[in-house]
Amino acid sequence: MQSKIAHAAERKAFSVVIDQALKAASGEDRAEKVDKVVDMAGKLLKDTAPGVVRGLKTALYPGGKWEDFLFDVIDNTDPHVFKTAIMNGGYEAAFRGLRTCTENAAKNGCNVPWIILFDPTSACNKHCVGCWAADYGNRLNLTYDECDKLITEASALGTHLFMLTGGEPLVRKGDVLKLAEKHNDCIFNIFTNASLVDEAFCQKVQELGNIVFSVSLESYEASVNDGRRGDGSFEEVMRAFDLMKKHGLLYGTSTCYTRANTERVSSDQFFQLLVDKGCRWAWYFHYMPVGEGASADLMPTPEQREYMFHRIREVRGFEGGYPIFAMDFQNDGEYVGGCIAGGRVYCHVNARGDVEPCVFIHYSNANIRDGSWLDCLKQPMFQAYRSRYPWNDNMLQPCPMLENPTMLPEMVKEAGAHCTEYVTPVTPESIEERTAPYAASWAPTANKLWLEEHPTGKKIYADKMSTVSQDEKGRMLMEMDTENEAVLD
Ligand code: SF4
Repeated sequence: MQSKIAHAAERKAFSVVIDQALKAASGEDRAEKVDKVVDMAGKLLKDTAPGVVRGLKTALYPGGKWEDFLFDVIDNTDPHVFKTAIMNGGYEAAFRGLRTCTENAAKNGCNVPWIILFDPTSACNKHCVGCWAADYGNRLNLTYDECDKLITEASALGTHLFMLTGGEPLVRKGDVLKLAEKHNDCIFNIFTNASLVDEAFCQKVQELGNIVFSVSLESYEASVNDGRRGDGSFEEVMRAFDLMKKHGLLYGTSTCYTRANTERVSSDQFFQLLVDKGCRWAWYFHYMPVGEGASADLMPTPEQREYMFHRIREVRGFEGGYPIFAMDFQNDGEYVGGCIAGGRVYCHVNARGDVEPCVFIHYSNANIRDGSWLDCLKQPMFQAYRSRYPWNDNMLQPCPMLENPTMLPEMVKEAGAHCTEYVTPVTPESIEERTAPYAASWAPTANKLWLEEHPTGKKIYADKMSTVSQDEKGRMLMEMDTENEAVLD
């Protein structure tokens, strides 16, 4: 395990290299010097998401769309925000954090995630149609001390990237800022409806530098967006984007695609709006029929999912598309080795403290109020994930709930996990009933698409980093560290 002194020296070395790279990329003849920036990004992320980095390196050629994108981000982001995002997100989380997490995984015989999602609150100031959070009110909250303890214990194990979901995390704006200020070597991505974003808040975020935003948006038309989210919601988001842009912050969108909105939220009008408003990423989440009363009828059809498969690849293509980093987590599993849950890459803590494998998988044996964070990671439900991964070679069928519906009941039973739904407990068998027809209808298209790109049926990685277990990854990273030291010298 790296000592504090060695860590400080390494951080300093990265900081100097990043300063030099950014200076080169901001000055004259920067197109010729951009390789240094790309190499630095590659260095920081190559073990975390090697497929993505290889794609970036191929995409960043002189005069290309993604080089223009990079220069636009550098020119229009507050320098402190940009550097802090690279240092905390790139160095502390994706580079050093990944190494520390994998070493701790091997040492403790459990997965240690390098990303944690947590819900500071179940409360929300909105009453969106179909969302349970508004009905449940503000009864569930993690206290500031509980959030602080979670981050402190998790960062000691290596985790430095925290995503805040809810409820609406900015209902707890003061605590969010306090946490970011205290944990200034971490980065926080806030999933928000943006209605509570104001000038003073943006000013503070600009000063801190370690908060980015993923804003919920479902249409480029106010009337459609507001029909579900309430009158004025669309304008609130537009105003928040303008404030974030004015303060040089980093932000993008988070959108759930359903049978009712897939075409609209992936339309040219939608992407153009996001680009015009300065969004840097567009995250897409496939609708999941979890929670009391969730309708299976809202799941996209196989045709819609295939459309999203092609559309998102087109949007983020090297040529054409839009200058925004679009990802569809359900169709992009191949870049991260399939399912990332159960602590392999990430896990979720709800507003009651239950530690769940994934924000969509509401079964657990552990709660942060009952023991240490490490104890929570050793829970049987996470060990069930760990021992079974990977359960499928086809990463267009990555999920133990959605595309492999028998897997979830098996793991819950084996682990003896309980349901963590806030309102009404749901059995894994009833979830299986909801998702099995979807899985069967998607399988032929998933197989067709997968075999078109991977004729052997298996993705051949240029290296094994994405798919190996955390233990194996730890061994590989240790071997590579000698090479990393040489790069920093
Ligand atoms: S459990 Fe399903 S939704 Fe969650 S990370 Fe894995 S594949 Fe994605």
